Amino acid sequence: MYGTVLTTERLTPELVRVVLGGEGLADFVPCADTDAYVNAFFVPEGAPYGVPFTDDEIRDLPREQRPFPRRYTVRRWAAETRQLTIDFVVHGDVGMAGRWAQHAQPGDYLQVRGPGGGYAPHDDADSYLLVGDESALPAIAACAEAVPAGRPVLVVVEVGSAAGELTLDSPGDLQVHWVHRDAHDGDPDRLLAETLRTLPRPVGLVSAFVHGEAASVRAVRRHLLVEGIVERDHLSASPYWRRGRTDEEWRTVKSAWQREVEKDVPTGP
Ligand SMILES: Cc1cc2nc3c(=O)[nH]c(=O)nc-3n(C[C@H](O)[C@H](O)[C@H](O)COP(=O)(O)OP(=O)(O)OC[C@H]3O[C@@H](n4cnc5c(N)ncnc54)[C@H](O)[C@@H]3O)c2cc1C
Repeated sequence: MYGTVLTTERLTPELVRVVLGGEGLADFVPCADTDAYVNAFFVPEGAPYGVPFTDDEIRDLPREQRPFPRRYTVRRWAAETRQLTIDFVVHGDVGMAGRWAQHAQPGDYLQVRGPGGGYAPHDDADSYLLVGDESALPAIAACAEAVPAGRPVLVVVEVGSAAGELTLDSPGDLQVHWVHRDAHDGDPDRLLAETLRTLPRPVGLVSAFVHGEAASVRAVRRHLLVEGIVERDHLSASPYWRRGRTDEEWRTVKSAWQREVEKDVPTGP
């Protein structure tokens, strides 16, 4: 499956919105989870194939010529027009995906597979807590739009500066707390967790979604479980990326990292 870039839009200094469409998305079947994601494939410069490519075309190529897979959230799927919206973090002149988004033009192609997903706001929750950085903002925004009407939703998002803020919509009773990296010089891994300590505790049975940079997610997860703010079965927490590592490097150590994270807050005897 592949999409043709229809439009691109700079939402904030860190986020570029790309809307994909075209007949290459004819087989796209959406998924109900609010964190639905696709595997997108970024073709290195000079590779001897283009989009769309088949598995047979790339199987025997050297690693550096094969496409680089990256996961991206389905910010929106418009069923009527069959258009897929993805919001990409652009993080300097590094990263296959970030650079692709930074330079994407109408008419470019992006091959995708999926979607898959893992979280939807729990129906039985009294309130919702959605935490992350810009990489999780598409899923957080989709989740805020999908919560039951009137229930409290606390969103805590880390962005580079005030210019990184977006308007979020929700049928819930929405409170958004933006955390600006440029206003803090402490440990970046602890910024979100420390911020949560200063905010009112969410009420009742909480459904929580915590995603973004790995060490930051780990610190938030530990805080929420140790303080008994969220029950494990109502917590979705996973590391989308790791500071200082490419996705390839991160994937080689991610399982071991997640096993270590599990030990942070032991389950009962
Ligand atoms: C299920 C899932 C859904 C995701 N959804 C989104 C999404 O909707 N939008 C989105 O932008 N990302 C999303 N991500 C994260 C994205 O896949 C990673 O950030 C990915 O590493 C970006 O690839 P890249 O090629 O740009 O950079 P890489 O080649 O992987 O990394 C190059 C350098 O950039 C750094 N880097 C990577 N990501 C970031 C970042 N976000 N901010 C600052 N530095 C970074 C790395 O640490 C490394 O030093 C999602 C990840 C998962 C697992």
